[in-house]
Amino acid sequence: MDCILCAVRDNDDRVEILKVYEDDTCFIILNLYPYNPAHLMIVTQRHLTKFLELTKEEIIHINRAIQGIQLLLDDLYNPKGYNIGLNQGRDAGGSIDHLHFHLIPRYGTELGFIDIVGKTRVLPEGLDAVKKKLDENIHNYLNQEFFENF
Ligand SMILES: [Zn+2]
Repeated sequence: MDCILCAVRDNDDRVEILKVYEDDTCFIILNLYPYNPAHLMIVTQRHLTKFLELTKEEIIHINRAIQGIQLLLDDLYNPKGYNIGLNQGRDAGGSIDHLHFHLIPRYGTELGFIDIVGKTRVLPEGLDAVKKKLDENIHNYLNQEFFENF
């Protein structure tokens, strides 16, 4: 496979699919190696390599999607802050040559959100649990009405 994100887009069964949302312009996946719990990547459907290649419609749509995910994460996890970013090119820290934005919720302590099991064990919430929560809720936030009404 030439491009891992094109493979994810195409639901290639050779890659672990962590897609939580998809429309005609973009799709959203959980980072397999998250910097923090619920570290998301917003990826263009088109295989673009440069920010300058984005159309006006794509810029608006993708940024609106990021706003929608923030509303969702605010409700689900109430992070204290966010990093929103794009690394274009290997020399800028870009690891994949397919344009994508990172949305990284920050929790202050960076212990992340936790599930308390019993009274003594504390476990970080894993990818599967995060994915399940996002799958169940994301379409309440990212839907046609949301994208049309700012
Ligand atoms: Zn690609």
